Amino acid sequence: MPTIHRIDALHAEMTAWRRDLHAHPETAFEEARTSDFVAEKLASFGVEVHRGLAKTGVVGTLRAGSGRRAIGLRADMDALHVHEANSFAHRSRNEGKMHACGHDGHTAMLLGAAKHLAETRAFDGTVHFIFQPAEENEGGGRVMVEDGLFERFPVEAVFGMHNWPGIPAGQFAVMPGIMMASFDIFEIKITGRGAHAGMPHHAVDPIVAGSALVQALQAITSRSVSPVDAAVVSVTQFHAGDTWNVIPDEVTLRGSARALKPEVQALVEGAMRRICDGIAAAHGCRVAVRYERRYPPIINTPREVDMAIAAMSQVIGGDKVHTDIQPTMGAEDFAFMLRERPGAYVWLGNGVGAESRMLHNPGYDFNDEILPIGASYWVTLVEQTLSKKALVSAGAAPAGGG
Ligand SMILES: [Zn+2]
Ligand SMILES: [Zn+2]
Repeated sequence: MPTIHRIDALHAEMTAWRRDLHAHPETAFEEARTSDFVAEKLASFGVEVHRGLAKTGVVGTLRAGSGRRAIGLRADMDALHVHEANSFAHRSRNEGKMHACGHDGHTAMLLGAAKHLAETRAFDGTVHFIFQPAEENEGGGRVMVEDGLFERFPVEAVFGMHNWPGIPAGQFAVMPGIMMASFDIFEIKITGRGAHAGMPHHAVDPIVAGSALVQALQAITSRSVSPVDAAVVSVTQFHAGDTWNVIPDEVTLRGSARALKPEVQALVEGAMRRICDGIAAAHGCRVAVRYERRYPPIINTPREVDMAIAAMSQVIGGDKVHTDIQPTMGAEDFAFMLRERPGAYVWLGNGVGAESRMLHNPGYDFNDEILPIGASYWVTLVEQTLSKKALVSAGAAPAGGG
């Protein structure tokens, strides 16, 4: 594959890093070993290391030339609470935790790019390598922004990458505008009055009210959201009762809501609160709704998407860069960085067919064959975006004393 030759030489080293990280998965804000691993590697490459953002986050800073421009490249480091089903040698040694989303690969690719860029420095400006914790559920990207990521490490644009099963190995996909959904969670407590199951007229039955509510919530996406907009409301937990013959006092529902547009996200929350109040009132119950907006949607800016496409095309060829894709209702906390700075989030194919399990599957594994392609993309993006040539042609570094 047409990757950068020197990065091909790093393939074995990146594979060893990736498998080491895979064997030692750590979850949200507890990525202590992973954070040490990243910091030690960056320091050994001669990259300036900054620690402590979002607890376990690491930022590596690399400067070349005299250019004042700066960009950020981001990888996530955290694993999931999943029992690994694989039996290969690098399977998880932390029972109940697993790199089932490929963040081990993302970390290894960005480290590979950092090593190459530190050796070659064929760019003019500053690169910040952003290694963030807690992408899964807990919004480590948001915490890094709140901890002053872009004040301490100013960048004109920020870029992210995620491996994607279902896209052929080593091919890329990206689109301008909204590419991934917002992600919210909700918890609804319905309180009635328990009673003997044989004498329901003495009860205010929260199970009947809860059942009606699950049905009614489906009307948000079918009746309140425009048919040409996308949204999802999924009730994923329904907890109530302890035995056969007692109507309980209380029901707890939990679930996830998704939308592609911020205004639809707001509409879903409003409709949910209205329907909960109405259904509870109709059944004589009380209701408490906790609705948390977790992640905003991923919104790529057109200029940075073009920059990403130029770099990907140079690495792998334009015919293997897919832009005719559909957004997904999955979510990503890189959205918090994209809310602060222009940027582009891209998918790198992890492979197709039975071999390539979906993200979060207990049989998933990051495809080591794509490590040099992802790392080459990062390097090419830096060298093109912070190009020395652009500086020369702009007359800032005249040859021959002109
Ligand atoms: Zn994930
Ligand atoms: Zn992920």
